[in-house]
Amino acid sequence: MTRTLFVGGNFKMNGDLATLSKLVHQFNDADVDVESAEVVIAPPALYILPLKELCRKGIEVAAQNAHQLPAGAYTGEISLNQLKDIGLNWVILGHSERRTIFHETDELVAEKTAASLKAGVKVIFCIGETLEEREGNKTEQVLDRQVEALAKVIDEQSWEHIVVAYEPVWAIGTGKVATPEQAQDTHKHIREFIAKRVSQKVADDVRIIYGGSVNGKNSKELCSQPDIDGALVGGASLKPEFVDIIRSAE
Ligand code: PGA
Repeated sequence: MTRTLFVGGNFKMNGDLATLSKLVHQFNDADVDVESAEVVIAPPALYILPLKELCRKGIEVAAQNAHQLPAGAYTGEISLNQLKDIGLNWVILGHSERRTIFHETDELVAEKTAASLKAGVKVIFCIGETLEEREGNKTEQVLDRQVEALAKVIDEQSWEHIVVAYEPVWAIGTGKVATPEQAQDTHKHIREFIAKRVSQKVADDVRIIYGGSVNGKNSKELCSQPDIDGALVGGASLKPEFVDIIRSAE
């Protein structure tokens, strides 16, 4: 079993057309082995199209969110069918900022994920515990609950279109990265839960990536853990340093 490493860049609500285009040019020009990792960047929605045109082969573009319904009177929303229509193959769903600031529940994130797979868009499915939950020894319970919501609504085959991003909320944007041991233990737990709940095959094949203060210095050690298959990067994806993170997968 070999899992291709996956590196995602989540630009969140940052940047403008000029700076993000310049950044993509820097990623394009970097001397990295495009075969060694799957690279996906997620710009703010209105920059998806222009940046998609700029990305060289081997760098794909994702949306940061989408609505679960195919079309309708939902002012301000973008549907998964519309993402597919412009040739997008990826979407990030259930990011902790969507869960906490925009009150997305486990059920809604699972529903969006199922709708996304139906539309033919692959999903970076984010899960993670808060600091309070970790300190209250609830990490595994929270992650199991988040994965269980998804396992309920998708079939076994669909898991091949999912990348699970484990992002402890306390590590996102804080500079407080989980130690490689902490992250490995948690990834192992997630994989074991998927083995029990879905199947051993899915657990062996699914990529589980780590997110939360990943940078050019800590990425190599994190990505070399047996159950860590890459990274979802926020802040450092807005810098040329993102190239070093992609290289850590080589
Ligand atoms: P960070 O964000 O790398 O800035 O901590 C990660 C994320 O939110 O995906």
